Amino acid sequence: MPVPSPRVFKHVFGPVPSRRLGLSLGCDLAPRKVCSFDCVYCQVGRTDRLTTARVAGAPVAELLSEIEEKLRTGPRPDFITLSGSGEPTLNRAMDEIVAGIRRRTDIPIALLTNGSLFVFPEVRAACAGVDVVLPTLSAADEETFRQIHRPAPGVTLGAVVEGLAAFRREFKGEIRLEVFLIAGVNSTPEQVRRLIPLIARIAPDRIQLNTAVRPTADEGVRALTETELATLATLLGPKAEVIADFRRPATSGAEAGAREGEVLDMIRRRPVTARDIASGMGLPAGEAARCVEALLRSNRVVRERRAGEEYYRARSEG
Ligand code: SF4
Repeated sequence: MPVPSPRVFKHVFGPVPSRRLGLSLGCDLAPRKVCSFDCVYCQVGRTDRLTTARVAGAPVAELLSEIEEKLRTGPRPDFITLSGSGEPTLNRAMDEIVAGIRRRTDIPIALLTNGSLFVFPEVRAACAGVDVVLPTLSAADEETFRQIHRPAPGVTLGAVVEGLAAFRREFKGEIRLEVFLIAGVNSTPEQVRRLIPLIARIAPDRIQLNTAVRPTADEGVRALTETELATLATLLGPKAEVIADFRRPATSGAEAGAREGEVLDMIRRRPVTARDIASGMGLPAGEAARCVEALLRSNRVVRERRAGEEYYRARSEG
């Protein structure tokens, strides 16, 4: 009997294992790659359109229909995560999307954001309905901020901190602040200590130290070791933690017939290991490896080594 073709998901991917959110169903809200930053450590690649102007992103009905189908057919995620291949708060329909997800499920909603648009009251209002917000603050001075994030015109470190502080005052949910540290750029104890007064203004519930463990937009972005991160975390007090590498064991009863297209869809979002694919899609490890080998043979993905692990990245399609 012929096997029906799997549905191609344009805006929703996973669930994938996330170091910060457990099993996360990702929703791509901004077109690739529209962002208010062009971070040296970005996993998606260089920013094509650097802007703070909000845009029409994924069509709301289409996105919600994809979420419905993923929830109906896949494993239950721990979070539905608004993120993707650009800055999600640039999507003008963010409030509609959040309300639409709320009507469909009680699974908590997370938002991965660079935080640069919280300076706008309408963006803070659009994000008010999510459960967990994960913004980034990685520099305590303007020069380092620009070196790391290469922001859109008009975006300054001061404005980002102001926006995050304003959001904290209004937002009832949890804020997990990411501090992304790069060896030789923002990782001295002095640089980390200088973040303390800025973080105090944002008053996050958790502070999560991260580093470049995956392939990055720029070459030469150096990761810290876990020990170095752990030492720096102690400077930021008891709320600070090193983000653990979350691994969810493969579900034995999970769908055995993995589809290469679906694996490719996942790899297109960000570089992943074969283990990420296996646990994120609930596949036996051998099946995930088979899919990856087929994609390598057909030249649709490339293999890269980073921090002792092999990652798969999609070849550029245009
Ligand atoms: S890491 Fe996030 S904020 Fe930075 S360029 Fe990539 S998508 Fe934009």
